[in-house]
Amino acid sequence: MSYKYEAIKGRKVVITAGPTREEIDPVRFISNYSSGKMGFALAQAAAERGASVTLVCGPVSLETPKGVERVDVISAKQMLSACERLMPCDVFIGAAAVADYRPGVIASKKIKKEPGGQQGITLELVRNPDIIKIVSERPDRPFTVGFAAETDNFVSNAIKKITSKKLDLIILNDVTNKGNAFGSDFNAVLVIDGLLNQYKFKRALKIKIAHGIIRVISSALACNLHD
Ligand code: C5P
Repeated sequence: MSYKYEAIKGRKVVITAGPTREEIDPVRFISNYSSGKMGFALAQAAAERGASVTLVCGPVSLETPKGVERVDVISAKQMLSACERLMPCDVFIGAAAVADYRPGVIASKKIKKEPGGQQGITLELVRNPDIIKIVSERPDRPFTVGFAAETDNFVSNAIKKITSKKLDLIILNDVTNKGNAFGSDFNAVLVIDGLLNQYKFKRALKIKIAHGIIRVISSALACNLHD
């Protein structure tokens, strides 16, 4: 094993992945297109480099990587509870596309179309907890890595997120590049650390990018960049 990955060895790593699903009624939900592939690739890479990895994932159809523990959840609230049960840990990677909002009330029966005139209904949404922020604000906080999927002002928005979510590293996805879209096996990312050093990973298979990201995390752990 390369010395560049030495510091991740034996560390407890928790990774969120996939979408969350927020129930509207017994037959409907709000969700997004996240496939979970980047989070799963990171779990595989960290496990291959000797970390002890748990994936907390929303509804995805992916096989669990070898040697990785897996906790399946549906909603953002369930994802938060599962992550809190896994604390403390050494490294937390928030790769999940957590729904920002959920319906304020879940209807106990299927919402029916009103016969006659009604042309629309209003669904009241409430904010979901910010899982990564809650984790990074813990007194025993892990080295915390977040993702940003931006469509404009990429770098300045990502840097703002480092501060607002108290992150040690942020991984910036360029979602305007269609070849790296949701569900693709490929990605291209820019990684920015708390000292604003930038590491660019050109378009490659997600597993290759994942090993590169784990190498950056491992180097930061080795330099004790985490407060
Ligand atoms: O705020 P935004 O959704 O752009 O932030 C993305 C980062 O925050 C990702 O790392 C994502 O996993 C995490 N996140 C979270 N809980 C939320 C929303 C986002 O952990 N409710």
